[in-house]
Amino acid sequence: MQTLLPTHDVVLLGIGHTNAHILRMWKMHPIADARLTCISNYSIATYSGMLPGALAGQYRPEQMEIDLVRLCASVGTGAPAAARLIVDTVTGLDVDRQEVMFGNRASIRFDVLSIGIGSVPTRAGVESLDDTVLAIKPMQTFLQRLEERLRLVHQRHPERPLRIAIVGAGAGGVEIALCLPNRIRKTLGEIAFELSIVNGRDEVTSGATAKTSLKARRALAARGVRLVLGRRAVRIADGIISLDDGQQVDADLVLWATSAVAPALLERFDLPKDGQGFLLTHATLRSTRDVPVFAVGDTGTIENSLTPKAGVYAVRQGMVLWENIQRTLRGQPLEEYRPQRNFLKLFNTGDGRAIGEYKGLSFHTRWAWRLKNAIDTKFMAKYQNYAIMPMAANPAWEDAAVQMRCAGCGGKVGGSVLSKVLARLDIPSNENVLLGLEAPDDAAIIRAPEGRPMTVTVDFFAAPLDDPYVVGRIAALNSASDVFALGAQPFAALASATIPVGKPRQQEQLLYEVLAGGLHEFRQMGATLVGGHTIEGPQLTVGFTMLASQGPGAPLTKAGLRVGDRLILTKPLGTGVLLAAHMQARCEARWMDTLLPTMLLSNQPAAQLVNGFDILGLTDVTGFGLAGHLLEMLRASNASAELLLDQIPLLAGVGELVSEGIESTLGPANRAVEANIRVTERQRRDSRYASLFDPQTSGGLLLGVRESQVDAVLSRLAELSDVPAAVIGDVVESVDREPSIKIARGEGPEVRSQKPEARSQKSEISDD
Ligand SMILES: Cc1cc2nc3c(=O)[nH]c(=O)nc-3n(C[C@H](O)[C@H](O)[C@H](O)COP(=O)(O)OP(=O)(O)OC[C@H]3O[C@@H](n4cnc5c(N)ncnc54)[C@H](O)[C@@H]3O)c2cc1C
Repeated sequence: MQTLLPTHDVVLLGIGHTNAHILRMWKMHPIADARLTCISNYSIATYSGMLPGALAGQYRPEQMEIDLVRLCASVGTGAPAAARLIVDTVTGLDVDRQEVMFGNRASIRFDVLSIGIGSVPTRAGVESLDDTVLAIKPMQTFLQRLEERLRLVHQRHPERPLRIAIVGAGAGGVEIALCLPNRIRKTLGEIAFELSIVNGRDEVTSGATAKTSLKARRALAARGVRLVLGRRAVRIADGIISLDDGQQVDADLVLWATSAVAPALLERFDLPKDGQGFLLTHATLRSTRDVPVFAVGDTGTIENSLTPKAGVYAVRQGMVLWENIQRTLRGQPLEEYRPQRNFLKLFNTGDGRAIGEYKGLSFHTRWAWRLKNAIDTKFMAKYQNYAIMPMAANPAWEDAAVQMRCAGCGGKVGGSVLSKVLARLDIPSNENVLLGLEAPDDAAIIRAPEGRPMTVTVDFFAAPLDDPYVVGRIAALNSASDVFALGAQPFAALASATIPVGKPRQQEQLLYEVLAGGLHEFRQMGATLVGGHTIEGPQLTVGFTMLASQGPGAPLTKAGLRVGDRLILTKPLGTGVLLAAHMQARCEARWMDTLLPTMLLSNQPAAQLVNGFDILGLTDVTGFGLAGHLLEMLRASNASAELLLDQIPLLAGVGELVSEGIESTLGPANRAVEANIRVTERQRRDSRYASLFDPQTSGGLLLGVRESQVDAVLSRLAELSDVPAAVIGDVVESVDREPSIKIARGEGPEVRSQKPEARSQKSEISDD
């Protein structure tokens, strides 16, 4: 079946308890002629109900996580009703134009939007907080941040008991206080510590019955937790919590778990709000501004309703939201959400028991914990099923697919689509472009840079990801990499794109995102877009023809390797394996978090190293894999190479995936060069050996560097980026005049996954 662009865009902002339900339903019953876009600030979502258990060591962290990369991919990448994931920071919302805006990427359009970005702990009435404070949110990074801080404060004060305070004694704060001791022991061993809870109200677990609160107090007392109730923390500085009655509590570390208020981002949305800044909705969960925007979970407040902010409500809203998204698209009246009157409350006490409350009954038992565990793990299992669903045949797509589409020049994308896209793009000018897209004509007119030879290349590929903006960026970097490898400076580019058949509005948005992504990179490299050609086809393909001016020196051809050069590879290998795994929903979020920044790293700064160092041989490693491109260089340079297998850096996850038999479809063809490789049977079984044939998308550079300059080149590369470069071998004389690669060593470490913290924002505490 031909892939088509769906007509409607359903966008979920924040994938919490309610919106995650939509993603799950989409996988099972995709909405006809619609596409789902999930925007999240992290590639994983966490389930708060299991956080205390994870803290207590009852769960591994990943048990409370939903891998959004895999869940979205399991809907079927590139399929008509695919679910694309955008991990980025939203900066605004244009409700009238129905657009979501980002700080650093093209805006996206929606027909229906559901906002569910949760809440943040309040700091109302607090004068100042210093870095003694650790916020629970973002929950994705909480455990990691906590462990780091525990180690740090213990290092600072090894001589005395550690003093930890929790501000906020709602259900969450109490569970944390009860489960934290296990984590402290797990992290630091059997050390002495003191725990306090500070709460503005004179009670714990507010909202629960008196009997439940009493049980919670007893559990806290049994753990030796000191209660500081009825007093608010107003300042935290230098290890002291100042209270509103003038008293002080000493604390080396303060966990901030106060009541929920609206995330600051909501202030920027031109939508009605309640007194705490949450978005006001009708009982249908739709904004009271009566636009196709829903606000769900903690983020929404239903008019005239006193429903507290809790996950149990957010979960139940999922079903109503799913129905109402479909009704909105069909133009039908919406269903109302009625919050449940009673629900079972279960608080994990971290000791194999839970405090429960239901219809006035209160209990603290082992079976209550077993029940909680059963409910939570069953809930999570629904979201941790990453098996790809066979896409249900959709008559709407098939009808459209069989409509005859013209070929030849009739296969071009409509002129109005193109002119609308160009009007939305911010295309930089360039002194060498005499006639460009500011006044589009039959062709662009460019001036050959004075006295300099021009370097020209073209590259394009089928989109490996469902995010057109990122695809546009990678395509630009991938195309420009060839000119960087020759030491040239790009100044203009022509786009070649095939975009799926669809309505003009959808085609416009897709092309806009792709070209905006490309322009993002061209701007950084000092180039501009001067034209291109876009046709309709079965799937998104993107590429660029690059026009570049050669530098003053001789071009850096593949023939420049010298015997004695050390080979440096500037990016780890494995993009082909990871992208193949992504197609099968097997590329984990933490691996994607390393893969994307690696593919989005420009080779331009690394290529410019040739200006300061004695480097004559250089190429970029792309489709033919490291072995294929190295052999091209060796043939041109009349030399051979010894590769240190254990030094070849791999992207996170590659070793694991290769051992599971995952390989890019081009991998076998790339193995044709094996005849020129000398390898032992044992080395052949090493995942690093397989990675030599892995086709790289936006791969790194391979440089021949004199031994005396290796350290300097590596330190310069480390200054340029976090992506690890490595010496992977040596250029040697060919034994029998036939260039070959000898594999020299066995096994070694893999590049570690990037932890969510590494690319996250600061901890979230509201300034309200
Ligand atoms: C320790 C603790 C334990 C709790 N236990 C329970 C419990 O047992 N039962 C219960 O009913 N409630 C519990 N709660 C309350 C519960 O966590 C919330 O009510 C619930 O998470 C609300 O769900 P949500 O979908 O609105 O938001 P969340 O679950 O917070 O999801 C919001 C999502 O949006 C993402 N996001 C945030 N900002 C942005 C942004 N700008 N752009 C994109 N994405 C963004 C977040 O990363 C997150 O994935 C607990 C709370 C805490 C702190």
